[in-house]
Amino acid sequence: MSNDFQFIEVGRVDPTKHAAEKRATQFIEIYQPFTQPQVSSQADRCLDCGNPYCEWKCPLHNYIPNWLNLAKQGRIMEAADLVHETNTLPEICGRVCPQDRLCEGACTLNEEFGAVTIGNVEKYITDTAISQGWRPDLSNVTPRKERVAIIGAGPAGLGCADILARNGVQAVVYDKYPQIGGLLTYGIPSFKLDKNVMATRRSVMEGMGIQFKLNTTVGKDISFQSLLDEYDAVFLGMGTYTAMPAKLPNEDATGVLQALPYLIGNTHKVMGTSDAATPYISLEGKNVVVLGGGDTAMDCVRTAVRQGAKSVTCAYRRDEANMPGSVREVQNAREEGVKFLFNRQPVAVKADNGVVVGIECVETQMGEADATGRRRAEIIAGSEQILEADAVIVAFGFQASPAAWFADFGIETNEWGLVKASKTDANPFQTTNPKVFAGGDMVRGSDLVVTAIAEGRDAALGILNFID
Ligand code: FAD
Ligand code: SF4
Repeated sequence: MSNDFQFIEVGRVDPTKHAAEKRATQFIEIYQPFTQPQVSSQADRCLDCGNPYCEWKCPLHNYIPNWLNLAKQGRIMEAADLVHETNTLPEICGRVCPQDRLCEGACTLNEEFGAVTIGNVEKYITDTAISQGWRPDLSNVTPRKERVAIIGAGPAGLGCADILARNGVQAVVYDKYPQIGGLLTYGIPSFKLDKNVMATRRSVMEGMGIQFKLNTTVGKDISFQSLLDEYDAVFLGMGTYTAMPAKLPNEDATGVLQALPYLIGNTHKVMGTSDAATPYISLEGKNVVVLGGGDTAMDCVRTAVRQGAKSVTCAYRRDEANMPGSVREVQNAREEGVKFLFNRQPVAVKADNGVVVGIECVETQMGEADATGRRRAEIIAGSEQILEADAVIVAFGFQASPAAWFADFGIETNEWGLVKASKTDANPFQTTNPKVFAGGDMVRGSDLVVTAIAEGRDAALGILNFID
C-alpha cells in the first residue's frame, strides 16, 4: 500500500557504507546493498510527478518513476525489463553516475525533503534481477543478415551493441584490452565499481549474441579497411586518452605522475593482471598531492589512501562549489582522510636533483563566470606557498586522441581532435564517412558513462537507418 506522505514521514536514506577505517585499506565497493524493505520504503517516497524532472535530466531519459513504482512493489523482474528499455548498463550507472548533478539533483524533493535515492534503487533492481536469472528477452527479435563492427568495448560501444542486438543485427565488438568495459574496467577503481560487475554484464551481452574480439587493436592487429570490407557499418567508441599536460616547470621530475597510468597500474594489481606495460606504482608512505578537482582526481586521492600514503592532499584551483567532481565522491574522500585545499593553483613543481619535493601554488579567489558558466579562479598576488610532496599526481583531464588512420578513410575531426558526428535525427552520429558512426568521449570529449551509453545507443539507431 503506498503512502502519499511517505516523503515527509520517511527521510532519504543512502545505503550503509563500510567504516572509513576498513575502506582506507581495501579496494572493495564501499556501499552495502539495499534490502527489499529499504527499497520499498525509499521508492515509496517518489511523488510520481506528472512532469518528472528526474527523467528529463537523465541523458538516457530513464523511466524513473515507473521503475521506482515496480521496485516498491517488489516486482523486480518487470522493473529490470523497464530499466533496460532505456539503459544498457543500469547497474553501472546506479554505481558511478553523479546522480547529485543529474536525476537526484533534479528531483522535486531534492531541496526541501531530500531527493529519492534513485541510483541505489537502480543498482538494486539490476543486481537482484541478474542474480535471480533475469536476461533480456530477445525471443521476438528476427535475425538480420547485416553485421556491424564496433571498435571499443567501453560504454559507448556496449550501448551501440545492445541496440543492434535487440534489432537482430550481429554486433562484433573489437577492443585492444583483454576485458570489456573501457574506462569502467581499467580507469574507475574497484572501490566505486567492482570488476565482477562488468564480467557479469559481459556474460549477459554474450547471451544476447554479441561477439567480443578482445586483445585486438584496430589499426595494428587488424586493419580498419578489412572491417569496412567485411561489415555493413562500423561504430567508433574509442574514448579519449591523451592526458592534459600540466605545463608546469619541472613537470618531468621523478615522482610526478599522470593520473590514468597510475590508476590503470593499480587496477591491474587489484585484478592480478599487472605486466610491464601497466606497471604498479605504490605511493605507500609518501606525502601525495593530487592536482585537479574532477572524478579522476577523486579516484587518485582515494587510491593513494588505500595504498598506504602518509598524507594525501587534493589541491584545486577553484572553490568547493565550483568543483566538477561528484559531491558524493568528495564526501567519501574526506571521510577516508583526504585533505582538501581549495583555491590553490599550481605554478611549478619543486624538484631536488630531478626528484619532486613539493609543488609551488598560489592562492586564488573566485571571479566572474566564464563562457561555461563556471566562475574563474583569479590569482591573489603575493600568495605563493610550497606544499611539500614526494609524489604529485596530475589529474587535469583528457584531450582527444584521434587515430592517425582516420584521415585515410575520410573521418574528419574538429579543431580539438574530436570526431565530427552528425546530430541529425536521420543519421545520428554518422561521421563524414557515411559507413562509419562514432560516439562517446571521442565525439563529445571526456565526459560521463551515461552520456557515452546514450550516444552509442543513438548511433545504433543511425546505423539501423543506414543499413535499411
Ligand atoms: P572508453 O570507456 O574510454 O572506452 C574506449 C574503448 O576503446 C577502450 O576499451 C579502448 O581500449 C578501446 N580502443 C581504443 N582504441 C582502440 C583501437 N584502436 N582498437 C581497439 N580498441 C580500441 N564517468 C562517470 O559517469 N562516473 C564516474 O565516476 C567516472 N569516473 C571516471 C574516473 C576516471 C579515472 C576516468 C578516466 C573517467 C571517469 N568517468 C566517469 C568518465 C567515463 O569513464 C567516460 O566518460 C566513459 O568511459 C567514456 O566511454 P567511451 O565508451 O566513450 O570510452
Ligand atoms: Fe519521483 Fe523525484 Fe522523479 Fe518526481 S522528480 S518522479 S519525486 S524521483
